[in-house]
Amino acid sequence: MELKGALCYVLDFDDIYNYAHQTAAKIKESDFQPEVIVGIARGGWIHARIQCDLLGVKELFSVKIDHWGVTATKDGKAKLTCPLTGDVTGKKVLVVDDITDTGESLTMAVEHVKECGPAEVRSATLMHIAGSKFVPDFYGVEVTWAWEIFPWNFYEDLTALIKKIFEGEKVNELSTMEVKKHLREYNNVVLSDEQLSKIKAHMGYLEVIQYPLDKAWKLKE
Ligand code: AMP
Repeated sequence: MELKGALCYVLDFDDIYNYAHQTAAKIKESDFQPEVIVGIARGGWIHARIQCDLLGVKELFSVKIDHWGVTATKDGKAKLTCPLTGDVTGKKVLVVDDITDTGESLTMAVEHVKECGPAEVRSATLMHIAGSKFVPDFYGVEVTWAWEIFPWNFYEDLTALIKKIFEGEKVNELSTMEVKKHLREYNNVVLSDEQLSKIKAHMGYLEVIQYPLDKAWKLKE
């Protein structure tokens, strides 16, 4: 069945740890032992913290790159919006992100860190999309393109996807049953009633839909 929107996969923390362990195993088998980890905000932060644990690294710094503003929609070119937060002079540095899609964010982060005087820089992601311009030195799994809904971006992604459903259907109001059905038709995403009710509460909190909540999901005018 052809989808009306972007193909999405919902990942949980078991998936994340599984991919993180695969990434860490490849790093441990290599000749590279990082002394500092740099997490790319926001997507790479949790993976970066997990790699600190799996690789026994105590120095964790950040760099912020903005690229994909809204779920499955690029914001033009990647932009460095916050430079490296710590001193990496003479250190072996691992730059960590969640996924390489176009690869522009990781390319930019690695170039920026290289300008800060490290001894060596390598890169790692949980997932790598085949065909990305940048291939990380280490990654857990290679996949074909889909929008991966990471557990740290679940509410943000689902809010954006449901907003796109309202636009696609050209309506201002949907029942929970309809939201559930459309998420399957648009994005191949199947959610439980409990997940949908949490997303609805979140969208009410952000005033994307009317709050106090109604039985229906009503777009805020
Ligand atoms: P890129 O610069 O295109 O490699 O992607 C930058 C960031 O956007 C990634 O580190 C992710 O946080 C997010 N992102 C890009 N593509 C995807 C995708 N297919 N699924 C989930 N997140 C993505």
